[in-house]
Amino acid sequence: MTRTGRQYLDSLRDDREIWIDGERVRDVTQDPRFSAVAESIAELYDLQHDPKLRDKLTYLTAEGEPAGLSYIEPKSESDLVRRREMVKIWMDWTAGMMGRSPDFMNVHMTGIGSAYEYFARGGEQFGKNARNYYEYLRRNDLVLTHTLINPQTDRSKPVHQQSTAAAIVKETDAGIVVHGARMIATLAPFSNDIAVFPSTFLQVSEDAKPYAFAFSIPIATKGLRFICRPAITPPNARVQDYPFSARLDEMDCVAIFDNVLVPWERVFINQQPKLGNGMFAETGTINQIMHQFAVKNLAKAEFLLGVALSMADAVGISGFQHVQNHIHEMINTVELVRSCIRASEVDCVPGPNGTVLPNDQPLQTVRTLFPQLYPRLVETIQILGASGLVMVPSHEELTSERAADVERYYQGATIPADKRIQLFRIAWDISCSSFAGRQTLYERYFSGDPWRLGMLRYQNYPRSQELKDRVSDFARRTAEVDRQQQQKTESLREKNHVTA
Ligand SMILES: Cc1cc2nc3c(=O)[nH]c(=O)nc-3n(C[C@H](O)[C@H](O)[C@H](O)COP(=O)(O)OP(=O)(O)OC[C@H]3O[C@@H](n4cnc5c(N)ncnc54)[C@H](O)[C@@H]3O)c2cc1C
Repeated sequence: MTRTGRQYLDSLRDDREIWIDGERVRDVTQDPRFSAVAESIAELYDLQHDPKLRDKLTYLTAEGEPAGLSYIEPKSESDLVRRREMVKIWMDWTAGMMGRSPDFMNVHMTGIGSAYEYFARGGEQFGKNARNYYEYLRRNDLVLTHTLINPQTDRSKPVHQQSTAAAIVKETDAGIVVHGARMIATLAPFSNDIAVFPSTFLQVSEDAKPYAFAFSIPIATKGLRFICRPAITPPNARVQDYPFSARLDEMDCVAIFDNVLVPWERVFINQQPKLGNGMFAETGTINQIMHQFAVKNLAKAEFLLGVALSMADAVGISGFQHVQNHIHEMINTVELVRSCIRASEVDCVPGPNGTVLPNDQPLQTVRTLFPQLYPRLVETIQILGASGLVMVPSHEELTSERAADVERYYQGATIPADKRIQLFRIAWDISCSSFAGRQTLYERYFSGDPWRLGMLRYQNYPRSQELKDRVSDFARRTAEVDRQQQQKTESLREKNHVTA
């Protein structure tokens, strides 16, 4: 089934324990710090039922049921293209600013569902659990958050020497009992379930075993609570004044497990560091996730480029050479990301159970480069916008006693004051506001520490030997040519000597 926005909103009214500003949230769909964001996600669900978009956003499963296209198990390049087009529609809807819209985890869990045999290595039932859970999510069109990282307590010590990280403290007939914390779970207040997965590499040791698990449970599970950072959404904010902050703050929370019972049927890995360490790479899930988030990056980069182009026209700076040069850098980013996505589809490789995996190399390029490219895109908006970014009154002013002043003095070269104000508030909210700051932080880190990812890329680059061999071969041929050259010179010298 594909849910409507209304069904999604109804599903959030349960016993979830969400804490913010020192108090427990009664209903995230009604609380002003959360409700507009919940409604923005509901809009995405409603798009699935729009007759103009339904065929692009959904597909029929083998059982003949309609499902969101982000759950498709891609069997060919064209399935990857269809999935990309679906993700792009949702991402364009939010200008790529909701990195954790439901498709992110849908693609993630589909990778895991397709590779269920990997989990069966730890025991047959774990493989079945992984597959059943994927089918359950697809059937019910749920929203997931996930949490991979242990709390930032003391990064110099292994996890088992700290007292904060979530660990398995007991096994019972009903399941495993987990106690401790995990950071971060973005989107948790707006999700139905939370996937608690391994990420950081663990030692393969007895000590590390209690930290090596993968499972997924409802947000409203007894003993599970979330503490949110303060909301970015200003209270009673007018959407025109805060176009992103007011509607798309997907929220970041710490997940605290207070002796939480995880039923066996929701456990995918139990106390197996080796399986945890290989989970994303060996299942091919990481390829699928990177394909999804590269599309998010494209939507985001295109939107920022659109804003830069519009600002340049609006205030008559598009003819200046340095402005054109700044914008050309943005075009390069857009086209690079677009090309990498396309290359990953064209060069897809076989994956588990008849699926295909988008090629990881172009996607790793996006994954490791975008954390540098995105802050530069934001900087360019600041450079081009200059003081225009703060020369913006609130929308109330347009109808206030000062309306005539605003109409006259806030106009642009090509647009009237109201349109200019609207455009520059969008530019502000993606380049200067708290929302913008959090987006930049998100792009630096959401997919892991860029330094360590860069190191891993170096260590695992599959063409390293081929390229070193090419250099050796060139050096060998150079030496051979040099030897022949020396021989020629020598024989010439001898000939000249004899002649003389
Ligand atoms: C806005 C936002 C949302 C996020 N949402 C989620 C989410 O929903 N789910 C989720 O699971 N994760 C989420 N993350 C977390 C993300 O996965 C981590 O930020 C990322 O993996 C880096 O880990 P860390 O933040 O713990 O940084 P740390 O590991 O604490 O690193 C801090 C600094 O120390 C350096 N450092 C630390 N350890 C080492 C080391 N061993 N070697 C070299 N350098 C080191 C790092 O390079 C970095 O500069 C989110 C992050 C952000 C910023």
